[in-house]
Amino acid sequence: MTDVVGDPIELRRRLDEARAKGKRVGLVPTMGALHAGHRSLIDRAVTDCDVVAVTVFVNPLQFAPDEDLDAYPRTLDDDVALASAAGAAVVFAPDDAAMYPEPIRTVVHVEELSVGLEGASRPTHFDGVTTVVAKLFQIAGPCRGYFGEKDFQQLALVRRMVADLSMPVEVVGCPIVREPDGLALSSRNRYLSPDERAAATVLSQALAVGAAAVGNGERDPDDVEAAVAAVIAAEPRAALDYAAVRRPDTLQRPEIIDEPVRLLVAATVGTTRLIDNLAAAPPLPPG
Ligand code: AMP
Repeated sequence: MTDVVGDPIELRRRLDEARAKGKRVGLVPTMGALHAGHRSLIDRAVTDCDVVAVTVFVNPLQFAPDEDLDAYPRTLDDDVALASAAGAAVVFAPDDAAMYPEPIRTVVHVEELSVGLEGASRPTHFDGVTTVVAKLFQIAGPCRGYFGEKDFQQLALVRRMVADLSMPVEVVGCPIVREPDGLALSSRNRYLSPDERAAATVLSQALAVGAAAVGNGERDPDDVEAAVAAVIAAEPRAALDYAAVRRPDTLQRPEIIDEPVRLLVAATVGTTRLIDNLAAAPPLPPG
């Protein structure tokens, strides 16, 4: 049976109790509307850890005023059922007052990594993410934290925050779960009309074209980004935000692609903004 807890102190008490018995704690932070992508994180945590807490909190701090905070899907009963079926011990689903009893005056800001890509069009987003994740880590206590590569920039930021602030958390990155046609699972996919849903596969197709170019020896990030952008441009329902080549750890743009890189893309399909990314590696030198 999976218990639902709304009180941060109660969650901490339970997880402290588990640690006192020598159990390893896993934490899976989410905003709910759980799908098979989240499930893969919970499955991994359940495999690695003795006690798994899934958090379900639609964090107002990471939404800009014009974003979809109110419309964001909230499906707690289904989320608890999914977490329970996956073997999570507890779902932490606090309300806004439990997480932010006072207007927050302390913000965790990760320099450089939070600038550009998602940070360009969502300038306050990552401060909201790192602040809430820091809070969740404080509430949960020492643990392993599971994050999806789907939000690649977020994962890089969380890793850096944990290292910089010596948080007692081991961050585990998990691969992107996709639909059979390549679309990365996302809670926002439910906003897509059938036509838009069909068009949304263009993101993963564009990334595959970029990764093939890198794999075939294209070393100029400009040309790879142009190849990705061209695929998106050919889909009338999609509008490109960015197509980017980045180093996977620092998220800096390489001058020349001489090591494995990450290709990242964001595009709006209809009115829904989608993101995706893919690893790409240059060919091995001959010999
Ligand atoms: P969210 O509820 O969108 O904040 O996502 C919670 C966690 O699930 C984040 O670490 C995401 O990166 C991860 N996640 C979301 N979609 C996927 C996916 N398709 N594959 C793997 N992880 C995912």
